[in-house]
Amino acid sequence: MDELVNKLMATGNLESGEFTELLKFRNIETTEYLYEKACSVRQKVKKDIIKIWGRVPISSYCKYDCKMCGLRRDNQFAKRFRMDTMLIVDCCREYARNGITNFLLESGDDLYYTEQQVDGILNAVRGAVKGCSIILALGEKTESAYQRWYQNGAAGYLLRHGSANEQHFRKIYPSNMSLLLRKQQLWQLKKIGYQVGTGFLIGIPYQGISNVLEDIQFIKSFGASIIDMGAFVPARHTPFEGERSGNGDMTTYILAILRLMLPDAVIFASPTLDCVLGQGRMQAVQAGADAVIVDLDVKTIIESYSVYERKNGRFILPLDQVDEVRGQIMAMGLDSD
Ligand code: SF4
Repeated sequence: MDELVNKLMATGNLESGEFTELLKFRNIETTEYLYEKACSVRQKVKKDIIKIWGRVPISSYCKYDCKMCGLRRDNQFAKRFRMDTMLIVDCCREYARNGITNFLLESGDDLYYTEQQVDGILNAVRGAVKGCSIILALGEKTESAYQRWYQNGAAGYLLRHGSANEQHFRKIYPSNMSLLLRKQQLWQLKKIGYQVGTGFLIGIPYQGISNVLEDIQFIKSFGASIIDMGAFVPARHTPFEGERSGNGDMTTYILAILRLMLPDAVIFASPTLDCVLGQGRMQAVQAGADAVIVDLDVKTIIESYSVYERKNGRFILPLDQVDEVRGQIMAMGLDSD
């Protein structure tokens, strides 16, 4: 198995049979070796600087009805919330006071925000925090909206492909969503010039090893600049609420594989990893991730967050203390930015 890791590191890819072996026979020795190699690649490419991204959940409304998601349209128990521009700017300012100037503005696929409104938000945030970086994750929008927001300072856009396999996609997404459209949108975003992020959930129902393989090969062939992976966590009041969570160790294992496949990519360690692994984000960093997403712990906006409901399935995640996260990164001998 170490040979497969060496080959992956040297060539950035493996044959399907080799990948299947690497995924199927995951063991402690191979995992340690893979993580060591993934971290050495990160050290070489990223100089071991871990970026911290502050997440601003601007809306919990969504027009879609994805089977795995607590924000799905038909979930009448989900508490819905939209932040206004002032509150979004307040959040970003608060992050900046904590030394964080990378912002991930995230929402469900909410029809409420017009192109102009998002422009206004981008202008307001960039005016309030000079030199900040902004990644948007607002769902599927029009090409003209993507163009406009890119010109107005959004550097990146996240749009998870979910599953690269048509049959599997149809089992987990509603019939009014299309894998083809999603892929087209990803290419559109790339053509415009965005750093484009995509990803999928490990352990989502109906997923087999062949699906995982197809997904990581899609991410590679697309040439994702940002990798946004997670472990499936059953959300309450969804068709998948009775399913088992995805395996956190498998998720970080795949992050390490992706580091070797796409050395330059930004690999996110997202808070939901903490639902399936103790210190999940830090384990992702040990597996080669170079960006940690944090959620604010700020008294002035805490009420807004409680409306937004920081829950994922049965789990309730505590809000982050940025200093604590920085301390954890430094304890691993890495720098944070
Ligand atoms: S996964 Fe995204 S698009 Fe689907 S319901 Fe959830 S927020 Fe909406």
